Amino acid sequence: MLYHVNIRISTEADFEDEIEAGSEQEAEQIATDRIWEDSYTGELRACSEIVNEEYEAFELCEECMNIVEECDCEESEEKDFIDKLIESEGGSNV
Ligand SMILES: [Zn+2]
Repeated sequence: MLYHVNIRISTEADFEDEIEAGSEQEAEQIATDRIWEDSYTGELRACSEIVNEEYEAFELCEECMNIVEECDCEESEEKDFIDKLIESEGGSNV
């Protein structure tokens, strides 16, 4: 069987940097910029710890590749069967 798995990892990183700036606010702003400019990727890789992890698996329908609970492949087959049953019953009554 095929499953779609949602993986949610929360990490926490705690590290320091020496930054030249005119004020505390400026130093904090520079640190923020460095984070968003990916200047700290090495530090993040070295210092990150996984603090939470969540995994959720959903069975996939191998016919339509949708989540089985949301797809109606089997349902429509059943419906076709019922429709044919009703049809044949109706036919015999006439
Ligand atoms: Zn399906």
